[in-house]
Amino acid sequence: MGRRPLIAGNWKMHMTPTETEAFCEAFVGMIGDGAADVLLIPPFPSLDRARSALDGSSVSLGAQDIHPEPSGAFTGAVSGAMLRDVGCAYVLVGHSERRHLFGDDDAMVNRKLHAVLAAGLKPILCVGEVLEERKAGSTEDVVSSQLDRGLADVGPEAFEQITIAYEPVWAIGTGETATPEQAQETIAAIRSWIAEHFGEAHASSVRILYGGSVKPGNAAELLAQPDIDGALVGGASLDPEAFAQIVAACG
Ligand code: PEP
Repeated sequence: MGRRPLIAGNWKMHMTPTETEAFCEAFVGMIGDGAADVLLIPPFPSLDRARSALDGSSVSLGAQDIHPEPSGAFTGAVSGAMLRDVGCAYVLVGHSERRHLFGDDDAMVNRKLHAVLAAGLKPILCVGEVLEERKAGSTEDVVSSQLDRGLADVGPEAFEQITIAYEPVWAIGTGETATPEQAQETIAAIRSWIAEHFGEAHASSVRILYGGSVKPGNAAELLAQPDIDGALVGGASLDPEAFAQIVAACG
């Protein structure tokens, strides 16, 4: 037990470098050395400016995507070494927008996850069901299958670097949030799956985040659930005050 919460802000395709600098300057003054680790995930062109603006703060930096190969003729792509060099510690893999808008299937998610590990970075593996799957009662099967394929060929030592984010697709950017009970139930099932495949010790130490329309008004009750170890926040992370309030909800 004793998992320290992680609050991560995924900015998607928002925030120019100039806007990023203004955000970071305001935001670092709003959070104390509180009870949570805090992570910002800006778009690629804003990473370097974020790194400078966050210098001396405890806020970490992450990237939204990675190319599975370490280098080569892949126009428009970004490698793990580049992300590490610009100051990233974490990389998202399997975000539903990458899966549904850019065609990242489980095999690609797994390749990207291994690329993150190979670069000495920490993957945040996102999993979650679409509305039809929830209505059909297949949430746990869908999530188990995404875990099984996304984590293929990951050994127990590498697993220590991994964070999981449970993000029901129907709750992302829709204003609709899973109830604390729904989120807790699925995240507890994810923890059981990890116990079965990686052992009890890893299951009790891995951080599992909830994502899907987390806001200052609903963060506290979601974060109070025993298996929810933090939040992956989209829309509400674009406003420094709102994001700082979510961080403060960790206590
Ligand atoms: C996300 O981008 O992962 C997300 C959960 O977005 P939102 O908080 O806007 O639903």
